[in-house]
Amino acid sequence: MKKIALIAHDDMKPEMIAFVKRNEHILAKYPLVSTGTTGLRIMENTNLTIQRYKSGPLGGDQQIGADVATNNIEAILFFRDPLSSQPHEPDISALIRLADVHRVPIATNPATSDLIILSLDK
Ligand code: PGA
Repeated sequence: MKKIALIAHDDMKPEMIAFVKRNEHILAKYPLVSTGTTGLRIMENTNLTIQRYKSGPLGGDQQIGADVATNNIEAILFFRDPLSSQPHEPDISALIRLADVHRVPIATNPATSDLIILSLDK
């Protein structure tokens, strides 16, 4: 089974945790991966087990990109912060590009995540 990837920038983490709690029953059916701090926060607040990669600025987005390139990702739910600049913006762009290359569904905000998660409820 392919993995669902979860990423949230710092100011978006509370919203990500609320999203995951609301959809925990769906997410629990999938293997989950995340960037480092996002995964830590989610595991502190839910019963989910998540494979945590490096923090985003330290290469976590690129690790998820490697999973995309090797056909191991079902969807990426990415709560980007559109109001602050990120030091690892090139990595973020690279991840979105790879998702487009491999036609992996990628949400970059909570509204799209709400729609994608419904289609993952099998
Ligand atoms: P984090 O990384 O989950 O380790 O905070 C996400 C990011 O900032 O890209």
